Amino acid sequence: MSKTVVITGASKGIGAATAILFARKGYNVVLNYCDSLQSVKLLSSSLTGQGLSVFTVKADVANKLETDFLINESINKFGAVDILINNAGISISGLINDMDLHDSDRIFDVNLKGVYNCCKSVVPAMISQKSGKIINISSMWGQVGASCEVAYSAAKAGVIGLTKALAKELAPSGVTVNAIAPGLIDTTMNSEYSIEEIEDFVSKIPISRMGTPDEIALATYFLASDDADYITGQVLGVNGGYVM
Ligand code: NAP
Repeated sequence: MSKTVVITGASKGIGAATAILFARKGYNVVLNYCDSLQSVKLLSSSLTGQGLSVFTVKADVANKLETDFLINESINKFGAVDILINNAGISISGLINDMDLHDSDRIFDVNLKGVYNCCKSVVPAMISQKSGKIINISSMWGQVGASCEVAYSAAKAGVIGLTKALAKELAPSGVTVNAIAPGLIDTTMNSEYSIEEIEDFVSKIPISRMGTPDEIALATYFLASDDADYITGQVLGVNGGYVM
């Protein structure tokens, strides 16, 4: 029987690339989105048009009732959730002095509380089936911190702490929990930066280019596979060798 993967924030960018990879590999894929209905519709119809198994659920990961709905709908549709990929995220940059509290609250609510909510919603089912894989998309900024991204860096560092703690808690139940810390990846999340700012950043990356969403999808796919059964509580940097 095909395994089922729930991918939060699958309407575009890294989440969409991950959904395409898992669907092509034969998984049942739950596409979660929050605002981008048109994008998720296009993705869903393209995948179903190829005969692949996908199901779309709207849910704001910052809201626990909605993450419960996401996981329950996924189980109702496919019978189980084998893999949860916590990918949904937002970025709002600015100096801490200029940052609106509403914006920083939203960064914490989506990027950290959203991961916590989805884990809390899925953990009872994974414990009772005695198996599961959770992969959290953090960021290199959660490892080294970024100026003008204090809330984002703190939330992503929180995701790393959550990953390590939950890995210990769930290991006896046969569930692994790992994180990926992407570097600079070519998605709309970075569209607020000018070409000059991107070029300046790229000049500091040893591999001398941005990463692609597909490269994050492939790393996620490995951590979700049986080949990664003995890996838990780890943070995999996919960053072109960037170290600050
Ligand atoms: P993106 O293209 O902006 O996509 C973000 C996704 O998150 C969208 O599908 C969006 O869905 C979803 N999302 C946002 N708020 C949500 C909410 N409240 N509930 C459910 N879904 C929500 O960004 P990306 O670059 O692919 O980023 C994906 C993940 O990688 C994020 O966690 C990001 O922090 C992380 N990351 C990215 C980079 C990078 O350089 N791009 C680097 C490090 C880490 P809707 O549009 O439907 O709301």
